[in-house]
Order: sequence, then C-alpha cells, then structure tokens
Amino acid sequence: MTGQVEGKVALVTGGASGIGAAVAELLAQEGASVVISDVDELKGPELAAALGRAGHDAIFLHQDVTSETRWADVAAEIEQRFGRLDILVSNAGIGILVPSIVEMSLDDWRRQTAVNLDGVFLSVKYCLPLMRKRGGGSVIMMSSLAGLRGSATLAGYSATKGGVRLFAKAIAMECAAAGDGIRVNSVHPGIIDTPIWRKDSMGAPSGQNAPVDPEELARLATPLGRAGHARDVANGVLYLASDASSYVTGTELVIDGGMFAGTAPRRP
Ligand code: NAD
Repeated sequence: MTGQVEGKVALVTGGASGIGAAVAELLAQEGASVVISDVDELKGPELAAALGRAGHDAIFLHQDVTSETRWADVAAEIEQRFGRLDILVSNAGIGILVPSIVEMSLDDWRRQTAVNLDGVFLSVKYCLPLMRKRGGGSVIMMSSLAGLRGSATLAGYSATKGGVRLFAKAIAMECAAAGDGIRVNSVHPGIIDTPIWRKDSMGAPSGQNAPVDPEELARLATPLGRAGHARDVANGVLYLASDASSYVTGTELVIDGGMFAGTAPRRP
C-alpha cells in the first residue's frame, strides 16, 4: 500500500538521525510533506535534501526542543508554509546512563528531563492549536520500553519515558473530551540499532556513557534474538499517523522483539 498519509503535513522532532530519520523518510515516501527538526545541522539538512531529490516534499528546521521561543517560531513557520499540521512525532530524545542514581548530577537529571519531557510538553502545547484549526490529527510520542519497566542505570531516562507514557494518555483524554479529532498515542521501542547507542553519552552532553553495542545486547536480552531496525519503529509510527488507526487513541505500541512479554531462553 502506498500513499497512506498522502496530503498530510508531518513534523518529526529529532528527525535527523536514527528512528526520527526513518520515520521522516517513511512518512515522505507515503505521501506526507515532512518537516524534519533537530539540533543536528549537518544530518538534518542532508536528509531533507535527499528526500527532495527522491521527489518528496521535505524541509529541515533547526530546533532545540527545550526552547519555548523556538517552538513558537517553528509552529508559525509550519503554519505559514503549509497552512496545517496533521501529524506530530515527538521523537527527539537523549539517554544518560548512570552506574548509580546517587552519582547522577542534578544538571544531568535536568538535561535528561528537559529534552525528553519538557520537549514533548512544548511540542503538544505549540502544535495542538495548529492541528485543531484543521479539525484533527495524530500525535505520536516516542517513549521507550524503559517507560514501561525499570532498568538499572537508566533511572532518569525511565522517569522521563514513563512520564511521556502517561502524558500521552492524559492528552488523548483531553482531546477526546474536546472532540477535536486529535488522536494521541505513545510508542515504546526496545533495543533499536541507532546511533544513540554509539554516542559517547547516548546523545547527552556530559560525555559520561561508554558506547554500547545494541546488537550484542539484544542477542542476549531479546526473545527475537536481535536488535530492531529504525524502520521497524517507523512502520508502527506510520500506522498511528495514518487513518488505518482512526479508532486508536491513548494506547501504547510496544515494538521490542518480545522483551516486554517475557523471556524466551534460546535452545543451543
Ligand atoms: P538518535 O540519537 O539516533 O536520534 C536522536 C535525535 O534527537 C538526534 O538527531 C539528536 O540530534 C536529536 N536531539 C537530541 N537532543 C535534541 C534537542 N534538544 N532538540 C532537538 N533534537 C534533539 O536516537 P534514536 O535511537 O533514533 O532515538 C529516538 C527516540 O527514540 C528517542 O526519544 C529515544 O529515547 C527513543 N528510543 C530509542 C531506542 C533505541 O534503542 N534506539 C529505544 C527506545 C526509545
């Protein structure tokens, strides 16, 4: 099936890399005009240009999702250029690993929360009015398996992703009560092979994390025995963005190779 989001306008935050880039690419291939926003001024414009060369409609906007003033500008730019917004994918995120919570600095906790939680709050605050003007839309918030269950070393990250999970449900109820035609859902990836694992600090500024090999981790931890691809998550986002999910709101889509379901020891 093609054209699943034909004629719609989508904003993907953190769209320059990994899951966000795969989402931007798939939504564009399925007919949406895509706004890629990110702090990465190299990969973001490159991806928008590559999608343009492939005949799709995509632009890049530089955006730090923690900046409220920039959110106001981004929403205004989208309205001016496209006159509408149908799909919001609040995807930008960082992960700060700490050996123990007692070693986590307050600055790191605040940075973790600013990107993963404040950024999602601001995305909704500034994009809902745009969506409401056109009578509906789909908001997809990128949570994590770490927003469903705890992981040692990821307490701060888990706090933000658990927050995103319930924030999505609360906004889904607010939109349903308003009858504004906006659906809101969260996505919960497990171990997905993206650059986040190989960044010194999983995208965080302090540089304290050692890079992790997601494939090795997933071989042991995942019932399906492998890491997921960014496209696996993008396929779920496409479903939630498209009219195929028109009766789906306030739910959580887990894309994790079976990790949340249980353990499946492999026979040699
Ligand atoms: P990634 O590092 O490849 O991509 C994240 C993108 O977000 C980058 O392009 C980065 O520049 C951008 N970003 C970071 N801080 C930003 C900010 N302040 N403003 C705007 N953009 C910013 O990582 P990914 O794996 O593609 O992660 C995407 C989302 O998926 C994140 O929310 C992450 O927590 C979530 N997630 C990832 C995995 C995984 O295994 N890869 C698992 C569960 C959840």
